[in-house]
Amino acid sequence: MEVLYSSTRDKSRKIKASEAILKGLADDGGLFVPDNVPAFDFSLSSLKDMDYKATAYNVMKLLLTDFTEEELKYCINGAYDSKFDTEEIAPLVYADGAYYLELFHGKTIAFKDMALSILPFLMTTAAKKNNVKEKIIILTATSGDTGKAALAGFADVPGTGIVVFYPKNGVSAIQEKQMVTQKGDNVKVIGITGNFDDAQTGVKMMFNDDELKAELKEKGYVFSSANSINIGRLVPQIVYYVYAYGNLLKNGKISEGDKINVVVPTGNFGNILAAYYAKTMGLPINKLICASNENKVLYDFFETGKYDRNREFILTSSPSMDILISSNLERLIYTIAGCDDKKNAGFMESLKSTGVYTITDDMKEKLADFVGGYATEQQCASKIKDLYDKTGYVIDTHTSVAAYVYDDYKAKTGDNTPAVIASTASPYKFMHSVMTAIDKKYDGLNDFELIDELAKVSGVDVPGAVEDIRTAPVLHTDVCDKEEMKSRVKAFLGI
Ligand SMILES: *Cc1c(COP(=O)(O)O)cnc(C)c1O
Repeated sequence: MEVLYSSTRDKSRKIKASEAILKGLADDGGLFVPDNVPAFDFSLSSLKDMDYKATAYNVMKLLLTDFTEEELKYCINGAYDSKFDTEEIAPLVYADGAYYLELFHGKTIAFKDMALSILPFLMTTAAKKNNVKEKIIILTATSGDTGKAALAGFADVPGTGIVVFYPKNGVSAIQEKQMVTQKGDNVKVIGITGNFDDAQTGVKMMFNDDELKAELKEKGYVFSSANSINIGRLVPQIVYYVYAYGNLLKNGKISEGDKINVVVPTGNFGNILAAYYAKTMGLPINKLICASNENKVLYDFFETGKYDRNREFILTSSPSMDILISSNLERLIYTIAGCDDKKNAGFMESLKSTGVYTITDDMKEKLADFVGGYATEQQCASKIKDLYDKTGYVIDTHTSVAAYVYDDYKAKTGDNTPAVIASTASPYKFMHSVMTAIDKKYDGLNDFELIDELAKVSGVDVPGAVEDIRTAPVLHTDVCDKEEMKSRVKAFLGI
């Protein structure tokens, strides 16, 4: 059955998956959502025999229905290859009562690689299918990890260009070095003197700027987005939850049909939304546990039904979750509003004008599968140390937020359903925070000095991605105010 996509703010116009991938964001500022979420057409037990690529094909074909089998397999095979440092692509590691789904074995050692390895293939295939003649310019705001993963994915991909904005003082030293050393003739990296929300708002404004779009079109360019609002990122993220379930089945940890809990360290709400779609499609998920750091706007939302971004923005040691406007939540709001586009548009208007909206009691009831939790900086650090002391396993700060929230959930509820924790970054990406959590003696050392220390402590080899940037030259030094973002993009494109 064909799945079509429409905006969360106006569902009157429907487009194909490939068109939605090309557009990224709908013209009205809404996000594309599928008009129906198909159920799996395979049995859960068949997952035992599927590798990552086979799982990806079987899941993605249900939602990207206008891609042919050949096209989709071309994209999957191109993405999930030796760019990953393990054939398993997303290994599951058991430690102290939970399964850690390691989503950081790609090029940039964070979970964004899971989707951004395939997005350039999906996008260039979509462009071909739709006879797009313009060069596709990817415009991206990043809280640290998306930027590098998108740069790595799109660098030197013919027919594309990419501009990445990141908060100059809001990312880790490793994250920044990864981005500013990016090679490629079609890439541009710019720091902004604001936070992630400023960067994201600036990018959204450019997407909604009709004058700018017309100007671009005339010069042979068209914008698209690699942010997690793109359906071409969301769909590939569903895959690894299904794959993890297959892994648990294959290894006899669960029986077919048994439920699992899923715990996700959350920022823009893309990763956990993918788990929600997996559940809707038929994956036996009991609770979706949404873990926040001290920027706990989502925790408060799940507690009260009121989304309120009017609060201090806190810089934490899990910077990829330092977000007050979780864009992908809009897809959930639309869904629990009974796919009522006008109602959703009203909430989003209210969010834009006042920073607040409150959902109805009916809608709140539909959130019963979600549990919100949060960890303070202290709790996040203690969990890293605790797990390390008990098991020798070292996790990063984002994963630790989720691990702490999971412990807390289990203690409060006694729910012992097997749990999969999305492990979203390698500890090598957030070295200083991880190492000082384990032992204060590392405090005087910087990220780069700590690389070898972490290798000793964890027994995990230094990833290639980290080795590379130790010596790579800095190629991007631009910094601008949020008001200047548009002129910087135009300068890069020579218009
Ligand atoms: C992006 C990111 C997150 C947050 O994921 P969302 O899909 O934005 O909720 C968590 N951890 C890491 C390491 C990330 O890079």
